[in-house]
Amino acid sequence: MAISFGENRCQRSKRDEISARPLCRGCGRALVAWVRADESADASPVAVAGACSCDRITVLPTRTRILLLQHPREQRVAIGTARMAQLALPNSRLRVGLDFAADPEVQAALSHSAATYVLFPGLDTSPVENLPRDREITLIVLDGTWWQARKLLKLNPAIAALPRIAFRPRKPSAYVIRREPADFCVSTIEALAEVLKVLEPEGDRFGRLLDPFHAMVARQRWFQDEVRSSRHRAALRPRVSPRKALASRLAADWSRLVCVHGEANAWPRHHPAREDPETVHWVAHRPATSETFEAVMAPRHVLAKSTPLHVELSRERLHAGGTVQQWHDAWKGFTKPGDILVMWGTYYRDLAAADGLPLSVPSVNLRDEVSRLLRRRFGTVEASMAFLGAKPTPLALPGRGGRRLAALVGALESLRVGDRESPELREANAVMDGSPIPPTGV
Ligand SMILES: [Zn+2]
Repeated sequence: MAISFGENRCQRSKRDEISARPLCRGCGRALVAWVRADESADASPVAVAGACSCDRITVLPTRTRILLLQHPREQRVAIGTARMAQLALPNSRLRVGLDFAADPEVQAALSHSAATYVLFPGLDTSPVENLPRDREITLIVLDGTWWQARKLLKLNPAIAALPRIAFRPRKPSAYVIRREPADFCVSTIEALAEVLKVLEPEGDRFGRLLDPFHAMVARQRWFQDEVRSSRHRAALRPRVSPRKALASRLAADWSRLVCVHGEANAWPRHHPAREDPETVHWVAHRPATSETFEAVMAPRHVLAKSTPLHVELSRERLHAGGTVQQWHDAWKGFTKPGDILVMWGTYYRDLAAADGLPLSVPSVNLRDEVSRLLRRRFGTVEASMAFLGAKPTPLALPGRGGRRLAALVGALESLRVGDRESPELREANAVMDGSPIPPTGV
């Protein structure tokens, strides 16, 4: 059987290119994939089930409260399982970030530390069978690779200090499509199914938690086998420039893209009175509809002397800002299910997530995309503009945040066009071709 994949945009017809790919509002994955029954150019593509497995989800109420803390990098993993678990378990929350010290849900769980446990694979843990059954417990689950989970513990000492529980998987992980570093590692959703089976054995319900997971694994295996078996055809495919490939990706998702940028009240690193950074200005723009969002939050900590200068908003303007709650409420009104955030680096996203802003949605780090494309690293989006042949999009938002968002939107709009290359870019590609991409910074 010769099958070519519709997801491979090199082979997409013009008609496919302009029709938006239907995406699941729950998990954000494709509902439909287009395949061709053979390689001939006039074979019409047929629709098959896409990567979304939400139709296999059974909603499973639990007594146990589950707090999924996701490493930001795990968010981009197409075969991650935390979102799937969250959709199935109504008594669960998913938070994305690195430092959860200011996250209200995490703080609430920590304040009941007698009934809060961290699920973490490894030694130095007690078995789940030993957990008390006389109280409602909260289970903190770290979602990411084993290394990312360890990093989260390191960055969150209060969570690291909680009692840890573990279980021995009864059988090896079905998560064969992703390598795990040790035999006690399983996917997040498999771990939850095992632990919930022990904690809430009534009705033997939690096998069903794995239905969408098994469907996803089966599909992924099929996909890998097909790609492997048709690898010999790869050489025949026309080479599409990376910029054109990125342009098609952006065009397909255009209506869902929301550019975001934050500015922080940040103290100089070595200042004796230094306080943790906090978001004081949050701006966003949806290029498809030109809608704009702005929130100024009054500082919760002491305002650093340099902050008004850096964020280019006066002390008075900052102190007159709203509360974190008002920011969250307004943001919920602005965003829509299925949104994809576009940002330059992840610092301000993580900072906002630490304040509890709901951001557990797919995101595009434009800095990574531009670095791959131009094979050089830019500190700020403004620095990349000339190389992209881009101009800021006027947004009438104040401060450095407004300026940086205008540049981000301008960069995104120029990348969507795709075929316009500046002389600088042509030169950069000619000089840098074949050289490795510089390593990722913060
Ligand atoms: Zn779905």
